[in-house]
Amino acid sequence: MPSHETVHCPRCNTVFECRAGNVLQCQCQAVNLSEDERQYVSEHYSGCLCADCLLQMKSVYRQDKFKQRLQQLFSLFGKR
Ligand SMILES: [Zn+2]
Ligand SMILES: [Zn+2]
Repeated sequence: MPSHETVHCPRCNTVFECRAGNVLQCQCQAVNLSEDERQYVSEHYSGCLCADCLLQMKSVYRQDKFKQRLQQLFSLFGKR
């Protein structure tokens, strides 16, 4: 059995090698993700993304968090 398999990135369809097939366990990409970032990716895609997409998801995650915080602020102001 091969120690790794090639999978298609569910986001951009690039072929890459993945050992775990699960972004929560995957250490095969040269991208350091925090627990929260991995969780975020796994909520949007089943399986692993390629390194490019993981990098992009990092910034998407940050923008998403930022937007959520803004919306919380606006909803607080909206109540008055
Ligand atoms: Zn990709
Ligand atoms: Zn992987």
